[in-house]
Amino acid sequence: ATPAALMVGVGRGAQAGILIRGGEILEKAQKLDTVVFDKTGTLTRGEPALTDVLALGGFDRGQALRLAASLEVGSEHPLAEAILRGAREEGIEPARVQGFDSIPGHGVRGEIDGHTVLLGNRRLMEREGVALGDAEAELERLQADGKTAMLLAEGGRLAAIVAVADTLKREALEAIIALRTEGIEVVMLTGDNARTAEAIGRALGIDRVIADVLPADKAKAIKELQAAGKVVAMVGDGVNDAPALATADIGIAIGSGSDVAKETGGIILVRSDVRDVVTGIRLSRATMRTIK
Ligand code: ADP
Ligand code: MG
Repeated sequence: ATPAALMVGVGRGAQAGILIRGGEILEKAQKLDTVVFDKTGTLTRGEPALTDVLALGGFDRGQALRLAASLEVGSEHPLAEAILRGAREEGIEPARVQGFDSIPGHGVRGEIDGHTVLLGNRRLMEREGVALGDAEAELERLQADGKTAMLLAEGGRLAAIVAVADTLKREALEAIIALRTEGIEVVMLTGDNARTAEAIGRALGIDRVIADVLPADKAKAIKELQAAGKVVAMVGDGVNDAPALATADIGIAIGSGSDVAKETGGIILVRSDVRDVVTGIRLSRATMRTIK
């Protein structure tokens, strides 16, 4: 492989908004057989909107949404923003929260009017000993629609199910079809629950979905694919994705994503268009063909 040809390839990538950190990465990209995408913010827009507030056990719907929104004031998660916006649109004023705590991969908790309030996934409720009872069926129905459904509890009792939905990026489906045409296996990696993730995966034609992954375990999931002999690219945008980007054979960061992701990525997609993943791989293959 001549360094000159590689540098031409890197230059061509740059012109197309695909920043490749060196000829070695361009060279390696032709060997990829697996591309792993983060879900939120990478395949979806990452701007979820509130869709459902189902009050449970005689709880008032407005009061439930107020409790949920009050907790989310302290969170920076995209889910928090969706709930806050939804509450604001209904003219709901958040209440004061004491002892706020954010539990990565689980949700949020705090004290409101002297009661412990929890908002998050099933894992959070299990951890805090809140029984789901007949909320289970509703939860599964929302998740089968591809919605992220969260549980709200007050004083150890379930008060509501709060669901939000994100929009798929228009380019995502096209990118995935093109990758599969190139013979590449497409995987989705997410902290969201399996049912929601699989509904979204089906809509996008994704081969394999790895769900319920704690932020700290995303890199481990990449290592497991590598241990199975795969040459893996990880595509992500978030702060949580940086360790997985660093672990992958090639980390690909979305340009509109977090600074940490961009610092870690071997390739940066300046236009934030996931179709450029395929363009990058094709560029690598074409470059290596001309060299041989
Ligand atoms: P992602 O892969 O979307 O970044 P995270 O690991 O951040 O997922 O979160 C996993 C799950 O934990 C979410 O789908 C949600 O159920 C719950 N969760 C995390 N943060 C919050 C929050 N601020 N409010 C409610 N639920 C949350
Ligand atoms: Mg993300």
